[in-house]
Amino acid sequence: MSMIPTTTTNPLIVAKFGGTSVADYAAMCRSANIVITNPHTKIVLISACSGVTNLLVALANGISDITLRQQHLQQLTDTHQQILNQLQHPHTVSDAIYALFDDITSASAQAAIASSPQLTDKLVSHGELLSTYLFNQILVEMNAAAIRFDIRDVMRTDTQFGKAIPQPDLIRQLAQQHLLPQLVSHIVVSQGFIGRDSQGNTTTLGRGGSDYSAALIAEAVDATTLEIWTDVPGMYTTDPRITAAAKPIKEISFSEASEMANFGAKILHPSTLVPAVRQQIPVFVGSSIAPQQGGTWIRKTVEQAPLFRALALRGNQTLVTLTSLNMFQAYGFLAEVFRILAEHKISVDLITTSEVSVSLTLDQTDTGGGAPTLPLAAVEQLNQLCRVDIEQGLSLVALIGNHMSDSKGSAKHIFGALDAYNLRLICYGASPHNLCFLVNEADAKSVITTLHQQLLE
Ligand code: ASP
Ligand code: MG
Repeated sequence: MSMIPTTTTNPLIVAKFGGTSVADYAAMCRSANIVITNPHTKIVLISACSGVTNLLVALANGISDITLRQQHLQQLTDTHQQILNQLQHPHTVSDAIYALFDDITSASAQAAIASSPQLTDKLVSHGELLSTYLFNQILVEMNAAAIRFDIRDVMRTDTQFGKAIPQPDLIRQLAQQHLLPQLVSHIVVSQGFIGRDSQGNTTTLGRGGSDYSAALIAEAVDATTLEIWTDVPGMYTTDPRITAAAKPIKEISFSEASEMANFGAKILHPSTLVPAVRQQIPVFVGSSIAPQQGGTWIRKTVEQAPLFRALALRGNQTLVTLTSLNMFQAYGFLAEVFRILAEHKISVDLITTSEVSVSLTLDQTDTGGGAPTLPLAAVEQLNQLCRVDIEQGLSLVALIGNHMSDSKGSAKHIFGALDAYNLRLICYGASPHNLCFLVNEADAKSVITTLHQQLLE
């Protein structure tokens, strides 16, 4: 079969719809309308229906109380059955759906005896396997030439269950081979979040990973646009739940948006922009509930590069301070510290140093959302070297903008607004796009509100 050319004269859109955009029949219909309104939308990746992955994670962790397990299973089947009931031709997909329900039931019983990361990924992948049957059928019933495609045939990852690493070169090869030929006559509906390792095991890219999946697929097929449809109309100058003064951002650069995604703006999975940047694919973020409201365009070059763009907030920070008098005018101390951290696979986020101490925050790799911790064994090893102090109850505030580190007077402006607050660890100057600092959790929201007022209103 011949490959379709995908040059800029031939637009190809990959659209991703998150859990709330496929939560029920009405939401699926709204999203399906967005797909068929634009004839260039040829690949649609969706999440599990809202709430389903949480239920599956709970089941995968092992629920031994049979009544409680039954309740979870019931809630899960109800969500999908309700959508099924509203289809014009439910029988087309009901057998496939019921077979998946059976798989979930038996895997949940197995997990109650012995859970494992491998079984967890197999079980949680069912959310996306289910939602894609339903969403595809809705498109078909709207007379679209849609077909459901198993993304695991393309989304090759390593075997790190729970947070598998995608392999872009293989994904490109497989997509050119299996996915592109389908686009000649079809809209392809497929799963975000899930993949497969070289042994054929189902893997997942980590919670919220559908955005990342969509970006990887967009990269693999040389898409001209990636659309991320969610329940808010794009990115804002800060979380509108913190201050009503938050304003929508119409256009933002890759660098600024990456900083925002990394530093807690929950709208995009932090890895999403990596493939988009590699391939320079413009990304649109909008609301499937109100598509007419527009959204945010994320691109390489944008018309405006304001000094201050946005404020992001990330809670649950752990600050580790390592103090050693031996560090004074010595060498090799930091190397030894990082060797120990690397040995325990601890990823460091922010870092500042003084003559005798180094302070660092730990990356949030835990999908449970709690504060990251330093394993006891790591503390013991570090204790041989230095004193270890650990502080929690902190939040990280990130100010995102442009040329902040070489703009005269900007530090005075920023810190002047924060006179009333106690600031811990400040990182300034390493990136022209961000300045971040830690504050007490209790102060975080008023710090954001105050800074927003002073710098962004
Ligand atoms: N369904 C998965 C989750 O809830 C992936 C996603 O929605 O992006 O984490
Ligand atoms: Mg999401």
